[in-house]
Amino acid sequence: MRKSACIWPKRFAWISKDRTLGKRVNMIKRITKKLNGRFVEVIFKLDDGCLSITGREGRVLSKTVSITESRGPIHTEIAEFFPEFQHLLPWHLNNLRPGCEHQEKEGWDKRPIDPAKPIATYGYFFKGQQLPCWNTLAWVRRSEHPKGLLGRPCSICGFRYGESWNKRELPPDVMAEIQAIMKA
Ligand SMILES: [Zn+2]
Repeated sequence: MRKSACIWPKRFAWISKDRTLGKRVNMIKRITKKLNGRFVEVIFKLDDGCLSITGREGRVLSKTVSITESRGPIHTEIAEFFPEFQHLLPWHLNNLRPGCEHQEKEGWDKRPIDPAKPIATYGYFFKGQQLPCWNTLAWVRRSEHPKGLLGRPCSICGFRYGESWNKRELPPDVMAEIQAIMKA
């Protein structure tokens, strides 16, 4: 299985992040930093209040030649090379949130299926699990696992987790900062 298929399985893929953002991106900014024979390029895209922070990283072979080894939402690498942007990373894909603000605050997407394993761990955690990339309860329906959160309603507003994509508006200070980065 390709790694990307794991990150966006079918149940969350009815809107592709790149398809929604790719069509009419009105602001884009690329910034590259090199360090110890490696490089990271961070790519900010802002479209109608929707922010995407992705990038690519790889090896620097010479002054003019470098090899890209991975691309996409490489937030660990971006945070390492650009600590000044780390606080902006949680706003990545602010228009594609599978939960309401309450579910987000309660960290529904950060609950592992197996409490003994961090959510960065992949594998099969329960009988009947269809894909090894379902590592949080938010990816699993209750019919599949007794603690599954996918489709479960919020106790405050009733929104069913994963039912549609929600947009979280960028706070004015974040928006101002992104626009300043774009114009720099
Ligand atoms: Zn809610």
